[in-house]
Amino acid sequence: MKFLPQKYRIPDEAMKPFIDPDELHSFLKQPQPDARRIRDIIQKSLDKQRLSLMEVADLLNANDPGLIEEIKAGAHTLKERIYGNRIVLFAPLYIGNKCVNNCRYCGFRTSNKDQKRATLLDSQIVREVEALEDNGQKRLILVYGEHPDYNAEFIAHTVRTVYAVKKGHGEIRRVNINAAPLDIEGFKTVKSAGIGTYQVFQETYHPETYAHYHPSGPKRDFNWRLTSLDRAMEGGIDDLGIGALFGLYDWRYEVLALVRHTNHFEAVYNIGPHTISFPRIKAAAGIDVKPDYYVSDADFIRLIAILRLAVPYTGMILTAREPVRIREAAMSFGVSQIDGGTKLELGSYSESKNEIQNLNREQFEINDSRSLNEIIDELLEKGYLPSFCTGCYRVGRTGEHFMEFSVPGFIKRYCTPNAILTLSEYLLDYATESTSAKGWKVIEENLNKMQDPAVEKETRLRLTRIRNGERDLFF
Ligand code: SAM
Ligand code: SF4
Repeated sequence: MKFLPQKYRIPDEAMKPFIDPDELHSFLKQPQPDARRIRDIIQKSLDKQRLSLMEVADLLNANDPGLIEEIKAGAHTLKERIYGNRIVLFAPLYIGNKCVNNCRYCGFRTSNKDQKRATLLDSQIVREVEALEDNGQKRLILVYGEHPDYNAEFIAHTVRTVYAVKKGHGEIRRVNINAAPLDIEGFKTVKSAGIGTYQVFQETYHPETYAHYHPSGPKRDFNWRLTSLDRAMEGGIDDLGIGALFGLYDWRYEVLALVRHTNHFEAVYNIGPHTISFPRIKAAAGIDVKPDYYVSDADFIRLIAILRLAVPYTGMILTAREPVRIREAAMSFGVSQIDGGTKLELGSYSESKNEIQNLNREQFEINDSRSLNEIIDELLEKGYLPSFCTGCYRVGRTGEHFMEFSVPGFIKRYCTPNAILTLSEYLLDYATESTSAKGWKVIEENLNKMQDPAVEKETRLRLTRIRNGERDLFF
């Protein structure tokens, strides 16, 4: 406990297992809720009140097609009302795919002897980051297999290496991590390198299913993984990403468990997870996944809408695993962050290979191979405001998503201006001519919609400074 500021102290109570499968199943066995109940729950969420587990279970239990549409419409309204039209962009950077675990769903599993294993050298990291910066990326998530080579010191070193790479106007302003769970000392070490979010996905919150899909290696320990983000908190990292891999077990159970995990954070640390991820199983070399719990597109969109209503203040991430049409629907019902220009093969950003994926060199199949510029162009076409903002994290406004949600005027004061400023940098430094023209039009529209003349004036002033060559001006 000694590393933890008082506000994050973990009461002993918290270390009791907070996932009780029987309890979660019992919620899901409740009778079908009627229309009135569902409408009340949607309204409660729109009124910015947190839903109870039973209320979330009712949303999950509602099978009537008309009610499902109402849930989706509620999520859409909430997304528009609270977050507006911003979409935050990032890219993954795979650092190493050596792995001692044998997760049955993953192309990196140790038994997959055809997988070509590699770890980027510092010089390769630099080349990859330069290539990402040349594309206009400002936010990365570094991804690692679980291996003794990838200990906390190594992760911290790679984070520092990434931050140090500056090319032209390019720089990475936020480095997030997706890696195996660490101990408290390890989390402290990684924190000291200045990471943003630390993501650990539980994969499945159902212990028996978890045991089946993780037959060997340290990841086999369900509770070590489940409590990993509590250790991260204790190590001083309060910016955490949770997630479940959809397709291993009943999607309703996993959604309820994600909400239960969120409630645990809120109850113990008074701060929820920064992001929730909900990857769906994709093709990968050597995988062995039963089709029993495959999640259809319709159910996938439905679960995204329910998560949006259930945890309204948390960032929701959907990656290039999904095809364009699913990503577009997901943004409309709740997703606030997507990756762009994604490549999974180690070294592939700088080597311009990987036009066709080779699953013996990559973790899984992706279904959206658009470049960052193509994605930005299409977001602009659809009226979204692409953002590379890293403002809150860099001035220490942690819990920013909660503030977006709960502090009146927060988005107008910080998020929209910062989205505009970071988009303007992209348009000046990296965009194609036609994307740039669309982008400036969208910027002007968003400036004209600003209700506070002082904020509009200051944003316009900073835009002029950016046009004159300054960079990284944020509120
Ligand atoms: N080794 C780290 C760990 O296990 O936490 C990093 C995980 S991996 C590089 C990132 C995530 O990809 C996993 O947590 C899992 O949810 C997801 N994933 C693995 N195999 C997948 C597949 N076949 N399709 C979609 N997502 C997959
Ligand atoms: Fe290794 Fe992570 Fe893949 Fe499991 S999911 S095999 S731990 S890289």
